[in-house]
Amino acid sequence: MKALLRRGAQHVPGAPALEVLGVTVRYGEVLALDGVSFTLQAGDQLAVVGPNGSGKSTLLGVVAGVLEPTEGEVRIFGHPPGQHTCVGFVPQRSGADLYFPVTVADVVMMGRALKLRRFGWPTRADWQAVHEALRTVGLEELAGRSIAELSGGQRQRAFIARALAQEAKLLLMDEPLAGLDVAAQEDVLASIAQLRLQGVTVLFTTHNLALAAAHFDRVLLLNQRVIALGKPEEVLKEGVLLSAYGHHARLPGVDWRSGLAALDDTCGDGWEQ
Ligand code: ADP
Ligand code: MG
Repeated sequence: MKALLRRGAQHVPGAPALEVLGVTVRYGEVLALDGVSFTLQAGDQLAVVGPNGSGKSTLLGVVAGVLEPTEGEVRIFGHPPGQHTCVGFVPQRSGADLYFPVTVADVVMMGRALKLRRFGWPTRADWQAVHEALRTVGLEELAGRSIAELSGGQRQRAFIARALAQEAKLLLMDEPLAGLDVAAQEDVLASIAQLRLQGVTVLFTTHNLALAAAHFDRVLLLNQRVIALGKPEEVLKEGVLLSAYGHHARLPGVDWRSGLAALDDTCGDGWEQ
């Protein structure tokens, strides 16, 4: 995360929000990403889908600037990662921060502090920005609640609100729906849809193909390499899926003819929960 806090780069005029250029990542013998390239224009929302171990988290790490690619490079608004206050990160759900004695509004205010590059007393305008962000994700009523008391989905929305308060232009979300029930997933997805209205570029990972297809205009199917990238109906075709998912394709209950397989948390071995 440290790299995210480094500051200073102005956007290069006309540069895409994100360019991933021939990125290869090796962890010793393990080839995690192999020549991955794609571009996001400002306001694009892209779902990266792929089975467990396909390199989704590695890709986000490279874009966030916390991981150096073995080959290739990343440009965010024309600059290398790690020089931006406009990159927001919604962490994967974990129990680790559950007991922090801070309120929902405090968490969102942290985004404001990042944006303003100061950690002094918040102004009235800062609080207004925080409440606006909370309203956008539907959490205004819970502003004074301890973050520890929120459900998983509410917590994810609080982190999205933090990115809004930070005025993030590129938001990275690693499996933000993992472990959430369907209603909470829908709430988080609705908050992401709100980001579209604000022109925030979103890079989102999930192993839930059906959700990605239903909620994103563009989907990148990843399995070390870019297997396919395009509209959901183009990407999630049987042959394309088979090449990415191999033996998972024979799971019962999956309607391959529709092209939009209902693969989700129930897929068992090899899939992230
Ligand atoms: P995903 O998020 O799609 O599950 P990851 O990016 O976490 O995939 O992992 C991609 C591959 O890289 C996997 O084979 C994983 O075991 C491996 N890997 C991830 N992180 C490390 C690490 N720090 N050291 C060694 N191997 C790693
Ligand atoms: Mg992962």
